[in-house]
Amino acid sequence: MKAEINEFMESLKQRTPGEKEFHQAVQEVAESVWDFYMQNPKYRKNKILERMCEPERTIIFRVPWVDDHGEVQINRGYRVEFNSAIGPYKGGIRFHATVTLSILKFLGFEQTFKNSLTTLPMGGGKGGSDFSPKGKSDGEIMRFCQSFMNELFRHIGPDTDVPAGDIGVGGREVGYMFGQYKRLRNEFTGVFTGKGIGWGGSLIRPEATGFGAVYFVRHMLKRLGKDIAGHTFAISGFGNVAWGAVSKINELGGKVVTISGPDGYVYDPDGISGDKINYMLELRASNQDIVEPYSKKFGVKFVPGKKPWVEKCDIAIPCATQNELNVDDAADLVKNGCWLVAEASNMGCTAEAVEYLKEHIDFAPGKAVNAGGVSVSGLEMTQNSMRYNWSREEVDQRLQIIMQDIHETCVKFGSGGKRIDYVKGANIGGFVKVAEAMLAQGIV
Ligand code: GLU
Repeated sequence: MKAEINEFMESLKQRTPGEKEFHQAVQEVAESVWDFYMQNPKYRKNKILERMCEPERTIIFRVPWVDDHGEVQINRGYRVEFNSAIGPYKGGIRFHATVTLSILKFLGFEQTFKNSLTTLPMGGGKGGSDFSPKGKSDGEIMRFCQSFMNELFRHIGPDTDVPAGDIGVGGREVGYMFGQYKRLRNEFTGVFTGKGIGWGGSLIRPEATGFGAVYFVRHMLKRLGKDIAGHTFAISGFGNVAWGAVSKINELGGKVVTISGPDGYVYDPDGISGDKINYMLELRASNQDIVEPYSKKFGVKFVPGKKPWVEKCDIAIPCATQNELNVDDAADLVKNGCWLVAEASNMGCTAEAVEYLKEHIDFAPGKAVNAGGVSVSGLEMTQNSMRYNWSREEVDQRLQIIMQDIHETCVKFGSGGKRIDYVKGANIGGFVKVAEAMLAQGIV
């Protein structure tokens, strides 16, 4: 089996040189689904996996804009429309200096499986730019978003491709992009998710990724005869996902002792609760991309330049970005008594870290754990189509049902070993629905 996967990966690498994050994401899926793929000649004959690894369409474009000093700036914009077998392309937009085609391809590829797991009719896509909102004025961000949309508008639509937020893209950026789309098209439609509540957004969408991750962890714990209450959590990041997770963990009686940023991490032994959670929102809104001010404000330890994985915890939830937890971090966590890691960031752990964690403790991958965000995006699309808004309770109820379904799918396809293999479960579970739809729709 190993030789066949290697052959498959070699051919992919030859066609996509240098795209290392994309290769990492595909390798993980290939390893998980290979046996299943081989047992189903209909998939093989139709080269379903090979087709899944090729985006249906990739759009790359120039994004020129003028900064506050009158200087012309040029960024690169992308939208990778990966797979539309089960619904319109759906996935976020990332604005970050590190954005490359490889990163957006890995994200779009994973999104296809994640969206399939949600049970909602959404294909997979991802977009973004190497533009960094850090330190930019509101006017600069607006002009950049408008320029970005001046090209992207012709490729998206409520039944074609529905973007949303991701790192560096929150309510403000979605607002500017949606506004420009509406102006260019002269139509008010559900073309974006993560919109403001007064103009087509859904309640719970900002919290959804973090809430969903904690609901997923709660199901993992239930299988182990445990609960969120009374346990200590280490979290990385301090953005939207971390904020939602910290809020829900507190509500359910857990304690969060760390958050982090590119500048280092904060250790708060009393737990990040109450007003401290609201302060995370202030930190984020400051556009500085640092967490150190938290330690100054609340008089707790700040460790510059380090990740939080050296601190003692029961459960770790990476909430920042890809490959933020490597095999040494994984070993530190296990050594200090951590017994469960759930990725809320996309591909938060390196391949070696995933292997190590799966061997030693319970581990679940981002495409299952963080699917709550895009799930509520799907619910936002439903509400937009109905021209109606559900209450907070209604949306939350549906989110909880979806996370339970995703967990059941993982258990269904990931059972058989000494622990549930959530990676295998999520990959096969996500694969089947897309593969069946692709088969039914012919060679397209
Ligand atoms: N960027 C989020 C993700 O990684 C949300 C995507 C969406 O809501 O479309 O799933």
